Amino acid sequence: MNNLKACIFCEIATTDRVIDQTDHTFVIRDAFPVTEGHTLIIPKRHVADYFDLNPNETSDIQELLQKHKALIEVNDESVDGFNIGINVGATAGQTVFHVHVHLIPRRIGDVENPKGGVRGVIPAKQKY
Ligand code: AMP
Ligand code: ZN
Repeated sequence: MNNLKACIFCEIATTDRVIDQTDHTFVIRDAFPVTEGHTLIIPKRHVADYFDLNPNETSDIQELLQKHKALIEVNDESVDGFNIGINVGATAGQTVFHVHVHLIPRRIGDVENPKGGVRGVIPAKQKY
């Protein structure tokens, strides 16, 4: 993107909101967390679509997912599961058009019935 100011994640990439990074990716906490600890893994390169990432970027994303899943669990023993999510395209719910992987910690009882998890992107189809 020519004008980095137009992208909130390009802007944040060089600030102290970054809690971790690799050569190709960085990590921040979500500003509007779904649950406490909601974390975003983001490529440094401005790319909108997850399927346009290169192998270096997807590899670093995987490394940071593993690392921060473990860190969140160590620092908060109430965490008992995770949802990992990527919205690809406005139709699928994407609102920030710079790829980011949601790592969302889950705790027992955080919703009445968690059955189906990410199937809840179509709410009526979550439980089957
Ligand atoms: P998506 O709908 O997958 O594009 O998700 C965008 C995510 O970015 C949402 O979970 C927002 O809460 C989060 N978000 C939006 N603005 C900011 C910001 N300034 N800092 C951190 N996270 C943000
Ligand atoms: Zn960007």
